[in-house]
Amino acid sequence: MRINIFGTILLFLGIMISCTSGNSKKINTEESAVNVRNKEAREDSLKYAEAESIRNSFKNKLTADYETPPVKSMEGADAADDPAIWVNPDDASQSLIIGTNKKMGLHIYDIYGNEKQFIEVGKINNAEAGYNLKYNGEKFDFIAGSNRSTHTLDVFKINKETLTLEKEALCKISSNVDDVYGFCTFYDKDKNAHYLYVNGKNGNIEQWQLMTDSTKLYGKLVRSFWVPSQPEGMVTDPVTNSLYVGVEEEAIYKFSALADADTIPTKIADSNTNNNPAISYDIEGLTIYRESDTKGFLIASIQGNFSYAIFDINEPHQYITSFTIQDGKYDGVEETDGIDMTSANLCNEFPKGIFVVQDGFNKDNGINVNQNFKIISAEKVLNFIK
Ligand code: CA
Ligand code: CA
Ligand code: CA
Ligand code: CA
Ligand code: CA
Repeated sequence: MRINIFGTILLFLGIMISCTSGNSKKINTEESAVNVRNKEAREDSLKYAEAESIRNSFKNKLTADYETPPVKSMEGADAADDPAIWVNPDDASQSLIIGTNKKMGLHIYDIYGNEKQFIEVGKINNAEAGYNLKYNGEKFDFIAGSNRSTHTLDVFKINKETLTLEKEALCKISSNVDDVYGFCTFYDKDKNAHYLYVNGKNGNIEQWQLMTDSTKLYGKLVRSFWVPSQPEGMVTDPVTNSLYVGVEEEAIYKFSALADADTIPTKIADSNTNNNPAISYDIEGLTIYRESDTKGFLIASIQGNFSYAIFDINEPHQYITSFTIQDGKYDGVEETDGIDMTSANLCNEFPKGIFVVQDGFNKDNGINVNQNFKIISAEKVLNFIK
């Protein structure tokens, strides 16, 4: 009898110990992954739990339609950063999403997030697509990006037959900024000229023109200017020839994107003086959604409170509203770095295009996994505006 009771107590203790150790292991893994905050999030970003509760308080909520597989990286590393959408002019349903892996290269996905290719080409931080570059007797589309391994701006040709990127860069332009960081492309339709913009962490911005001769593609520095503190997200609007620069702790700056223009900016969406809590914490990725030449929106990812702010593309660039991406079929989105959006009719499911965002804390079935990108029908975003 005693032995039986003793045995029962031992068995009970054993179960208790195994349950406790199982639980604490799970909690520790969860906490450590959540506590490894995105290294590029601003220092005064809200703490994770606070940011999550602010995210939940926004009225406009949507859910992701698709997600990519987790990116390659050390477990829990801050590796995915900035997406680029290439709209295939021959068949929009065969468009591509390119995601930067700032530890090692570029991931290439279809519009549903299925991974098609990975090229190990260095620490590409930001990337964007360009179209119709004439070189060597042909016209091609490209993905270009800021490569922190080589301190260059790299241009990769899109092979339209195989829907892949050619791994050998067509050109690598050595930048003079302190550390190549934010990046975007610009096409000047009047001059038929292609440009690359890059910024450095100290605020320097360079504009490079893509030049060709019979033997090579190369860059020519046409303008250098600066913003007062750390920028990252940049986007250009070919309709108005404008460059928008997200200065993380301050505002969105607007410049003329033209190579011969002055470099005096106007400030829009000033997070310090607008007294708008929705944009108070770290303006990060920027993208433009154009419905027409007279109507469109500038969208910013607000990394520090897990939301996205929408502004009118027309002056004075009024703030319209914000939205967040909540748990649904896929996990919600936290601490987004880069974003990209297109208004192209890609397929029946995405007649108004897609919005693509980096997810700083990707979970699969409640378990923390490596970062990834989420894909959302643009119609869902437009619903918050009309
Ligand atoms: Ca990051
Ligand atoms: Ca981008
Ligand atoms: Ca970033
Ligand atoms: Ca997530
Ligand atoms: Ca997930």
